Amino acid sequence: MSSESPKPVANLLGRSGAELRQFLESLGEPGYRGAQIYHAMYSERKFDFAAMTNLPGALREKFAREVAIALPRIAKRYHSADGTVRYVLALEQATQTEGSPGRTLQPANIETVFMPEEKRQTICISTQAGCAVDCQFCLTATLGLLRNLTAGEIVGEVLVALEDNRVTLKPQTNIVLMGQGEPMLNYDAVMAALRILLDQNGVGIAPRHVALSTSGIIPGIERLAQEEVRPNLAISLNASSNEQRDRIMPINRKYPLEMLLEACRKYPLRPREWLLFEYVLLGGFNDSPEDARRVVRLLSGIRAKVNLIPWNPGALPFQRPEPDRVNEFQKILMDKGVLTFVRDSRGQDVMAACGQLALSEATAAITAISS
Ligand code: SF4
Repeated sequence: MSSESPKPVANLLGRSGAELRQFLESLGEPGYRGAQIYHAMYSERKFDFAAMTNLPGALREKFAREVAIALPRIAKRYHSADGTVRYVLALEQATQTEGSPGRTLQPANIETVFMPEEKRQTICISTQAGCAVDCQFCLTATLGLLRNLTAGEIVGEVLVALEDNRVTLKPQTNIVLMGQGEPMLNYDAVMAALRILLDQNGVGIAPRHVALSTSGIIPGIERLAQEEVRPNLAISLNASSNEQRDRIMPINRKYPLEMLLEACRKYPLRPREWLLFEYVLLGGFNDSPEDARRVVRLLSGIRAKVNLIPWNPGALPFQRPEPDRVNEFQKILMDKGVLTFVRDSRGQDVMAACGQLALSEATAAITAISS
């Protein structure tokens, strides 16, 4: 028996077209084979080299032995009465490829949610396992940050959800980055994943059908503003004053409202692009008419839409707002010309520690931005 340890298997998932070309060339193969694999893996969702019949047989056999396209494993599925499926995905040990390359990432579980509708599906993905941002209304915050996801793991979430629902897929797919984690604190991996997801030769999701939600990390907003291809931007606002926001979103002490809204004012919106502000209505805390009037003032000068999300009581000590307060809040914003929607939750019977509380309105986020 040979004492030689098996060759490490390279995982191709998450590699860009250029990286695949380079990888193939490093093996002495023509670079265009990289483009073939890129298209097969991301666009056709072929994860078995044997199915890539445009590759020479010898290369398929060699790859089957030495290379992998390793998707996150579905550890659990929870089916909601409304069709929503919540996945717990198990991530293996991995090596960070973006940000601080080379760092070992330990195994972790994350959540991905698939929400079918009549003409489309929305997939809510995580960008980190756990989260360090510590929003007081979010169960993920109680985990702390476990680790960042790699670009391959983020792309893998979408591919797993699409594959698992292959036979019932509708023509349009929306993606919201509203699961576990703060996307702006794993920026490089998130953008590397988005370049593949938004590439029409890659996974092929239209940029207008993708929304990235942030708790208000200003350097991330400024970086996103410079990107040529980028998703819609959503800001998790949730308060009408610094005092209030400091209490439920400690990140506000670092990036207070006036700085955050200044960054939003400077954000270079394209024609027909809007900034979406998510506002979780916590009964008796941030749902008064005065709060609504302050929100109007905060958002002045910004092409903004607002999603109001009435809090659903659960494990955390907040109250559901009275329906009259929700209606009044909405009316005050609408009367001042701020397009405002009230969003109902989906899949509540299967949601445990979903990431951003805004997950409850994930399907609505894209509609709100693009309609
Ligand atoms: S709401 Fe988002 S940013 Fe805030 S703690 Fe939860 S996952 Fe992190």
